[in-house]
Amino acid sequence: MKKSNLTVRIGLDDTDHPDFGCTTYSFEELMGRLNEIKELKIIERRLVRLWPYASRRTRGNGALSAVVEIPLDSKSNLLACCKSWFDDLLSEIASYPDAENNPSPALLVSFDATPSDWYWEAVRGEVSLDDRIKEVTDSKIFVLSHEDQWGVIGASAAISWMPPGNHSWELIGWRADEKIGTERTISKKSIDEMSRLFPDTFMNRDPTSDKGIISPRTPCPVLYGIRGANKSAVESANSWIQGVEGNERCFKWSSHITNQLSDDHLEGTSSGTVISKPEVMKGAHATVKVISDQEGLNLVAFNEGGNVNKLLRQLMPGDRISWMGLRSPDGSIHLERLKLDSASPRNLSRPECCGISMRSKGRGQDLYCDKCRRKAEKSWIFDQWSPVGLDLVEGWSQPTPSNRRHLSMPLEHGIPM
Ligand SMILES: [Zn+2]
Repeated sequence: MKKSNLTVRIGLDDTDHPDFGCTTYSFEELMGRLNEIKELKIIERRLVRLWPYASRRTRGNGALSAVVEIPLDSKSNLLACCKSWFDDLLSEIASYPDAENNPSPALLVSFDATPSDWYWEAVRGEVSLDDRIKEVTDSKIFVLSHEDQWGVIGASAAISWMPPGNHSWELIGWRADEKIGTERTISKKSIDEMSRLFPDTFMNRDPTSDKGIISPRTPCPVLYGIRGANKSAVESANSWIQGVEGNERCFKWSSHITNQLSDDHLEGTSSGTVISKPEVMKGAHATVKVISDQEGLNLVAFNEGGNVNKLLRQLMPGDRISWMGLRSPDGSIHLERLKLDSASPRNLSRPECCGISMRSKGRGQDLYCDKCRRKAEKSWIFDQWSPVGLDLVEGWSQPTPSNRRHLSMPLEHGIPM
């Protein structure tokens, strides 16, 4: 008789120290340990990026989860294995030097589906740690956690994400221990070639700065992450780039289903009218005031926003614009995408007559030519203005690939509605 299986969701977050470790690698080690359980089957692994402004965030603010299947009678075995791995993790973390954000890991094991709100709240805003701990404790989830419990927010969000049909993938390759901290040797030429050979991979390189962007610059155990539209694309690309002579070999690798490029952190497109001239601040960051749905808003475009920043700096009062962005904790909107819908008149002038501009004689009066004394009805002439020197996609601006968030969808993948 076939034994019935349990579907289990396992989530992990907040294991990394600024100088050591990476939650993706901790999770890889956990998966390796669980694989020792006979008859346990890993169905899929997930990498979830969360709200970019979370006050307590890890690098790239990612959390990990997996869906696994085990026979009913292996439940206590699974929990014991998680507990033993987590105890090892805690002792390892205790040996790290003190940092501003010390790791505060949490490992959650749930035998039931968890509320999708746990994901949406954590990708769109700040989650209260006390509230989330209460919700998690009230459910029947098995919780292993550092005394500070911060990891509970990300781990609970990661097990609650329901991937849509068009989710993206990321294959992460990790480095051998002795390589960590040394320079990563993956040639730019091989990254360019990989992009060309495997068109279903994306965000491998930044054409505007002509550099590869698959490898992080931090001293973490990640060699690279290859993003793509499907599993076979990222895995074929990985085995190809691993075969290139001179490239560093991965010690281990794994494919993850991700919410990257989903725009889940954004609440859609807004429109409004510009009511101030742009103000450029230190560091070339720029702001402009708008009215949108009777609300006054400050839009901010950072220098790193590239074309978003350049477009914002060309705006004038009266321009009608659309944007997508994040409401920052101070209430201003940090732009991720910006579009000019219709420009207000630029360079206003009076019509000419006899080679000179006609003049107004005052309120309610016609225009008048000083030379031939012709009169004409009052009117303005102006330039049909459109932004100059910008790389736009159907009118929309976006940051360059290396300055774009993991969560943000490139305009090449879809134009905002
Ligand atoms: Zn005239």
